[in-house]
Amino acid sequence: MGMRKIIVLSMVLAFLGCKSSERKEKSSENSKALSVTASEVKETVAFLASDKLLGRNTGSQGIDESATYIEEQFKSFGLKSYFETYRDPFVAKDMNAFNVVGYLEGNDPKLKDEVVIVGAHYDHIGYGKIVENDSIANGANDNAAGTSAVLAMARYFSAKNNNKRSIMFALFSAEEMGLLGSRHLAKRLKSENMNLYTVFNIEMLGEPMKSKEFEAYVTGHKLSNMSEKLNEYANDQKFIGFYEMAETYNLFKRSDNYPFYEEFNVPAQTISTSDDYAYYHHVDDEVDKLDYNHMARIINKIITAIEKMSNTPTREIKMYD
Ligand SMILES: [Zn+2]
Repeated sequence: MGMRKIIVLSMVLAFLGCKSSERKEKSSENSKALSVTASEVKETVAFLASDKLLGRNTGSQGIDESATYIEEQFKSFGLKSYFETYRDPFVAKDMNAFNVVGYLEGNDPKLKDEVVIVGAHYDHIGYGKIVENDSIANGANDNAAGTSAVLAMARYFSAKNNNKRSIMFALFSAEEMGLLGSRHLAKRLKSENMNLYTVFNIEMLGEPMKSKEFEAYVTGHKLSNMSEKLNEYANDQKFIGFYEMAETYNLFKRSDNYPFYEEFNVPAQTISTSDDYAYYHHVDDEVDKLDYNHMARIINKIITAIEKMSNTPTREIKMYD
């Protein structure tokens, strides 16, 4: 009897003693359980880049099905819509088009008014130059890959629900027609006076960079301290580096980050790991060309960084003068 009491007492003391460290462990265990996996990412890419969706051209049946898929995913995560429905409609060269937008409100009474947009375009070009009887441009890397990243992040953050700032998850249409979806959404949010902090757009994460000095780059590297802060937040100085060709080709102006920069003049940049993709806008940009372990690893790093970005007491990411 006496012995058991002592054992119980010491167990209670041990429990009290390690409660806070245990809690910390639990929360990191929780993060680990929520981590993005290669199979999860591949599942999304396999659906969006299947021949059945015929290259997700704006205005097509394939892109409608893609949007429905994204909506169903959002719903299954318990993610709310920002507008009346997930679809944010607009007209693209006489065709009906729609972005798909989900919204996770921040849990800090003040900071929740500040918004981080995580985005990617989910449309592609439909058909391409025929190679061996194949004319469907599947757009696996461009940009089912980015879409899969946004969906994985939407799942993660919805489950974790620890963001002080609000996070908008936006999948853009009609990017390939000239950034029409992002232009529409940027103008719409500007007209509502959204308090936009940053835009983090994702393009072509499907294979590792051939240059090995760092793992990814952001476009508009010299315009803000985004790269520096991402490395700090991800605790990895070799995560983001300066990629000369992004400047040469002015990639900053060539994806959906750009209209937000123009409308809001806030840090709005695109991350990518593509420096020499052989199948850009090619019918062979297919599901089997991508490296899903690489993608999951990069997405998990992005998540670590965005988690910090959405929780810092002040706006640390700034445009340079
Ligand atoms: Zn693209």
